[in-house]
Amino acid sequence: MSTDIEIAQQANMQRITQLAKEKLGIDDEYLEPYGHYKAKISLDYIESLADRPDGKLILVTAISPTPAGEGKTTTTVGLGDALNLIGKKASICLREPSLGPVFGMKGGAAGGGHAQVVPMEDINLHFTGDFGAIGLAHNLLSAMIDNHIHHGNELGFDIRRIAWKRVVDMNDRALRDIVVGLGGVGNGFPRQDGFDIVVASEIMAIFCLATSIKDLKERLGKIVVGYTREQKPILAADLHAHGAMAVLLKNALQPNLVQTLENNPAFIHGGPFANIAHGCNSVLATKTALKLSDYVVTEAGFGADLGAEKFVDIKCRKSGLRPQAAVIVATIRALKYHGGADLKELNTENLAALADGIANLERHVNNIRNHFGLPCIVAINHFTFDTDAEIDLLKKKLAHHEAPVVVCRHWAEGGKGAVDLARTVVDLIDKTPSDFRFVYEDDATLWDKVTAIAKKLYGASEVTADLKIRNQIKKLQDAGYGHYPVCIAKTQYSFSTDQKLRGAPSGHEINIREVRLAAGAEFIVLVCGDVMTMPGLPKVPSAVKIDLDEQGKVVGLF
Ligand code: ADP
Ligand code: MG
Repeated sequence: MSTDIEIAQQANMQRITQLAKEKLGIDDEYLEPYGHYKAKISLDYIESLADRPDGKLILVTAISPTPAGEGKTTTTVGLGDALNLIGKKASICLREPSLGPVFGMKGGAAGGGHAQVVPMEDINLHFTGDFGAIGLAHNLLSAMIDNHIHHGNELGFDIRRIAWKRVVDMNDRALRDIVVGLGGVGNGFPRQDGFDIVVASEIMAIFCLATSIKDLKERLGKIVVGYTREQKPILAADLHAHGAMAVLLKNALQPNLVQTLENNPAFIHGGPFANIAHGCNSVLATKTALKLSDYVVTEAGFGADLGAEKFVDIKCRKSGLRPQAAVIVATIRALKYHGGADLKELNTENLAALADGIANLERHVNNIRNHFGLPCIVAINHFTFDTDAEIDLLKKKLAHHEAPVVVCRHWAEGGKGAVDLARTVVDLIDKTPSDFRFVYEDDATLWDKVTAIAKKLYGASEVTADLKIRNQIKKLQDAGYGHYPVCIAKTQYSFSTDQKLRGAPSGHEINIREVRLAAGAEFIVLVCGDVMTMPGLPKVPSAVKIDLDEQGKVVGLF
């Protein structure tokens, strides 16, 4: 069996200008190629598409993630290729991978097996430089804050209350907490600071929600970078930083176009965290894809309790996007793990564990159908060791749910392995109109919003918080931020805040430990557990295995 990179390197790629013309009807003059196989699409061109009708949007989400892996990206690619195989004009939209996980542990984010996007090395490493631009725009603002303080601090920053760190796109735990401004008077005022990874930057979230350069600039200006001693917020616009930041982001904001192994269009643009941010690719990429295709398949991060919820309540609410259906990816292996099976035993048939673990999938199916009002399909991402008895049991257990269950083999076979899934999706969209809705309304209080999510989706009995946190939430509500959506940061491994509670726990408490205002992204982050905004590398990072061979070919990248 070939590795992902071996399969990707054997791809028969089309020139991107040719693919853009043939598959999407985009003329050369609207493309900015980055080499032969990647291109950015001009914003003027995107604007000119405004009057075209939109294609149908399909969200790919999943059961609660497990260390066994689910395959959302792989399924997004496979479904896109399969839709093209059955004669539909379809594109996919994905997030850009971050270098942290590439060199760390998780690996790439360009799909796997015979369902990948290419050129996979480029996509996983730097790509078209968007993350570099986002990091620079972020760090420009950081530099302007310390510079402002150095030159007299006219705005009155309380240097203990600066709310804007620095970023780098690398897993580097040594940078989590640092002191800046050491070395004497000429170097500014010493203060405690720290680094986050680029994907955790609020600019990444803003970048992915912005609908135009103008919207981008306005949002950048609204970022709260710190507070005065009287606790009055100071904005990026107060520093006059947002114009220069927008300049750094101008090229990056154009969506990137690449292709799948089967030469179908793939938009890969932006990549915010799915915990402290909303975890989906840019609004601009999704909107562009919808104007140019009849079907667009897109992925949201983590499981459906987090990723799909934020896709719906943040991305769709803010952008006007409306999905027609959701595909929930599940694997037999992961469901057995949810049912208590040991990680090492997942390749052995275990009907009892599977029967228990299906509760996790059922909760997600119910949530998507009842609380988002979306028709939904369960895609069983087939692994070699899945047995017929296990697949039959899963189908039987889900028979009463009105959610078709389809086994797919795109990882092993490419698009043809997901043709059944594609037909089922098309059929479902044709026959079942979506009754799309949000989990809460804009005018609910912040507290009611998190309570609605916790009770309806997580099966929690209540939301709790210390007085200090409740006061912070009230202060944000009173300061006029109450109409913003909430963005819950909690473990992706469980419906609860305890990652060990697999399956479908109920009656638990959701405790809010921290509140963060993302004024430019226009949401309030409620931290319910440990969130890591600067990951570390494992003892043996993937970087150790990544190399260039004598021909200059990248090896060891998964
Ligand atoms: P997600 O998007 O849910 O994080 P990915 O689609 O990126 O998951 O897949 C995670 C990993 O699992 C990838 O390395 C991929 O190659 C692998 N994988 C996915 N589906 C299968 C499968 N059916 N059989 C074997 N490996 C798979
Ligand atoms: Mg993925």
